[in-house]
Amino acid sequence: MEYDYLVVGSGLFGSVFAYEASKRGKKVKVIEKRNHIAGNIYTENIEGINVHRYGAHIFHTNNKEIWEYVNRFAEFNHFINSPIANYKGEIYNLPFNMNTFNKLWGVVTPEEAKAKIEEQKAAAGIDKPRNLEEQAISLVGTDIYEKLIKGYTEKQWGRKATELPAFIIKRLPVRFTYDNNYFNDKYQGIPIGGYTQIVEKMLSSDLIDVELEKDFFEHKEEYLKEFPRIVYTGMIDQFFDYQFGTLEYRSLEFETIILDQENYQGNAVVNYTDAETPFTRIIEHKHFEFGTQPKTIITKEYPKKWKKGDEPYYPINDEKNNEMFKRYRQLADQLPNVIFGGRLGMYKYYDMHQVIGAALAVVKKEFE
Ligand code: FAD
Ligand code: UDP
Repeated sequence: MEYDYLVVGSGLFGSVFAYEASKRGKKVKVIEKRNHIAGNIYTENIEGINVHRYGAHIFHTNNKEIWEYVNRFAEFNHFINSPIANYKGEIYNLPFNMNTFNKLWGVVTPEEAKAKIEEQKAAAGIDKPRNLEEQAISLVGTDIYEKLIKGYTEKQWGRKATELPAFIIKRLPVRFTYDNNYFNDKYQGIPIGGYTQIVEKMLSSDLIDVELEKDFFEHKEEYLKEFPRIVYTGMIDQFFDYQFGTLEYRSLEFETIILDQENYQGNAVVNYTDAETPFTRIIEHKHFEFGTQPKTIITKEYPKKWKKGDEPYYPINDEKNNEMFKRYRQLADQLPNVIFGGRLGMYKYYDMHQVIGAALAVVKKEFE
């Protein structure tokens, strides 16, 4: 078969592209170095429970078109992410909201909570936040920073909070209402039956061939010669042989345990926010789909220093890495037949809805 496109990586970005290209009559070959499709949104059924193999994935978006788009490939339930923080046995609601402030300080009204935060912010003397620590204290005060942010963040990123960019913490809402919804977005849910079906459907066309356990770098030069167009969703620095240096990532180790009990922690996500517990969170998968199976499956998530060959889960978008990325991006712009996309190709801390949005933008540019 003569292909129009080679798509490197069967994650969400590559799969949306392959699906849209096949709808337009294009022939697509997808190669994937893992032994399964779907990238980091892969879920597998164990004991009747859909296990998120690469960490908790909750779909959320404000964009109606993206919500409708993803709903074509699965039915979503009404799951709302409301994680719990466990700090040395003390339990707090996340994201930071009136329930958190009440438990911590006994305050009851939003005004009392705001006054408390202002008082702590003033005592810390922060005017213009320059790093994650200062950003966090100016948003929620020192008590919450010390109990719920510092330990978790420093474990997660393996760096002092004073050496991390402020934007990381700005992902989290701070609310002066009694609302434990982790996200502000209008649409939210979990696909009933897991995420893998979404990618399976995207790649199901007769015009798409998928080859698993195939690493692009085994045959890079041939692929570049043979395929008229390539969509590349692997690491951009690897594509260019690390010539400007290695972009940094944070990696994770997942420990998954099947337990002979029905309910282990009573919530899908529990964060361990102290510095000493070696994992950042425990996920209990059945709660994403309100499961009633007799057993339960939990996953402990251990942050880990990344080195070449490890899974690159989180790009570290600090100044140094972003500058290096820009140089790679300039090289990429000189290759008109290769489209770089996705979390690794764009070196960006993208969520699923953003990846779909970015892929659809590329599709539009390519075909319209
Ligand atoms: P990926 O899913 O990484 O896909 C890239 C694919 O390319 C992979 O399958 C990889 O094996 C393959 N590949 C790479 N290099 C090569 C090569 N050389 N040859 C062949 N194949 C290759 N988003 C949310 O919206 N909500 C969440 O709750 C959420 N939680 C997350 C939790 C964790 C722990 C992580 C890590 C991410 C989370 N995300 C979440 C983000 C979400 O996973 C990503 O937005 C999305 O999966 C990115 O899709 P992608 O196609 O860009 O990348
Ligand atoms: N964070 C924290 N305490 C928590 C949860 C999150 O300090 O209990 C901080 C931490 O720095 C984390 C960031 O907020 O990296 C973003 O959290 P999010 O849950 O969005 O991270 P992700 O799901 O992407 O790992």
